[in-house]
Amino acid sequence: MELSNFADGAQYIGGRAGAGSGLEPFDVVNPADGSSVQRIRLASTDDVDAAVAAATAALPEWAGATPGARSEALLRLSAVLAEHAADFARVETAQTGKPIKLSTEFDVPGTIDNTAFFAGAARNLEGRAAGEYSGDHTSYVRREPIGVIGSIAPWNYPLQMAAWKILPAIAAGNTVVLKPAELTPLTALMFARACTAAGIPDGVVNVVTGGGRDAGEHLVSHPGVAMVSFTGSTAVGRRVAELATAGVKRTHLELGGKAPFVVFEDADLEAAVHGAVAGALINGGQDCTAATRAYVQRPLYDAFVAGVAELFGRIRLGDPHNPRTDLGPLVSFTHRDRVAGFVERARGYGATVVTGGDRPSTGHDGTDLTRGAYYLPTLITGVDQRSEVVQGEIFGPVLVVLPFDGDDEGLRLANDTPYGLAASAWTRDVHRSLRATRELAAGCVWVNDHIPIISEMPHGGYKASGYGKDMSQYSLDEYTQVKHVMYDITAVARKDWHRTVFGDRG
Ligand code: NAD
Repeated sequence: MELSNFADGAQYIGGRAGAGSGLEPFDVVNPADGSSVQRIRLASTDDVDAAVAAATAALPEWAGATPGARSEALLRLSAVLAEHAADFARVETAQTGKPIKLSTEFDVPGTIDNTAFFAGAARNLEGRAAGEYSGDHTSYVRREPIGVIGSIAPWNYPLQMAAWKILPAIAAGNTVVLKPAELTPLTALMFARACTAAGIPDGVVNVVTGGGRDAGEHLVSHPGVAMVSFTGSTAVGRRVAELATAGVKRTHLELGGKAPFVVFEDADLEAAVHGAVAGALINGGQDCTAATRAYVQRPLYDAFVAGVAELFGRIRLGDPHNPRTDLGPLVSFTHRDRVAGFVERARGYGATVVTGGDRPSTGHDGTDLTRGAYYLPTLITGVDQRSEVVQGEIFGPVLVVLPFDGDDEGLRLANDTPYGLAASAWTRDVHRSLRATRELAAGCVWVNDHIPIISEMPHGGYKASGYGKDMSQYSLDEYTQVKHVMYDITAVARKDWHRTVFGDRG
């Protein structure tokens, strides 16, 4: 079965592919050269209604399936994904421009591992012990699915984000309508087809490819949707939360980030320099946990800046399908111009652009980079903590470095943005590292590394980076609701407590 045949359209509703009923054709663009990867029709609100109806119809059977049956379906899904791994990697790179080595070694195997993890997790929903807490009743807790989940995903890791949204939701017995980013819907569609190939019943996983303001808002506000799970920018997350609040819906918000990278004076300099380059440039810096602000204690500052600049200069930009390419284009021309705008404004207020800050012309492999949305790895110094490049989410291959003196100052500056998704501390001193992990206000803190994620551990933000956890057993909490069940065990008709409502004692 071929998963990457999109001729039938970019909607996947009730186990069938179809064209959206939106009127204008829309091109999924290859940002490496501006060509069309696939022309599609976007979803209208009618398509969203049809997807919610399909998910609603599928709910009773799927919610009632045994955890073992759901687990087996997810194990089959991980096998289908593995069988089509190369195809997933190819399409992911074509629609995003990310280097094929990243798609092949990170996005796709990460998704397969996540699927296998949730196959296990489906059988491990935990609850408290049942007991006779009142003395007259037996109480216990049931963890139940919530219903139809409306999920909205961003464009930076289209396959992984689809998986992070869909897997815990269906492992817990919910059904899903996912709206991927319209720029990059193709691997989410492949994932939905893979679910059908794995024997997951029609309607359990639906994908509607549409715009944010129309299809997205309609999905969030739809009365048939019981919970909204959103990953994207903080600005859109706020709007989604407002709409969901009106319907008293549970929300799960994974929002923007501006991760600090704190290098103390006793750090291994070589490790910190390599870690900063990898942490800043992964996925072209279009990663919500990317290292974006390096704070370096004064004695290491000059050597750190020189080391990062030297490595940035060696990054191989080129055709993203070339396995030797380190950095492809950004996701779109509009986004590349947005990133360039941050750098230009920083230049305007006197920042030093140590390296980069421009569009490249020719790739390491001779590719004409002027045809794509490419931007050079860019290192900025000489900026104030309050400046836009330190406070705002650039979401591109741009690292800002600032010096600090005392440990208090380094940690204070690291926490001084609205975001709190991830952070890292670089030190060989156990006390310093313990203090940093305690005081850095972020949902994930690494010590002497930056970026790795694993299926068993939660991912999610503090502060304006949102709330709720993806991956791990914790994400199952997000997608289940807790019911207290209380049985009378006395078999007494006239219960003692009734006197508080009518009659007297004795
Ligand atoms: P975005 O907020 O612009 O869009 C995200 C999704 O929301 C897209 O599917 C979009 O179509 C949809 N959308 C837009 N307007 C909407 C509306 N009014 N109502 C409903 N849906 C709407 O984000 P993006 O540019 O696609 O992705 C980049 C952002 O995602 C960054 O801020 C990044 O930090 C964040 N992100 C966060 C995480 C995390 O785990 N916290 C992971 C990946 C990306």
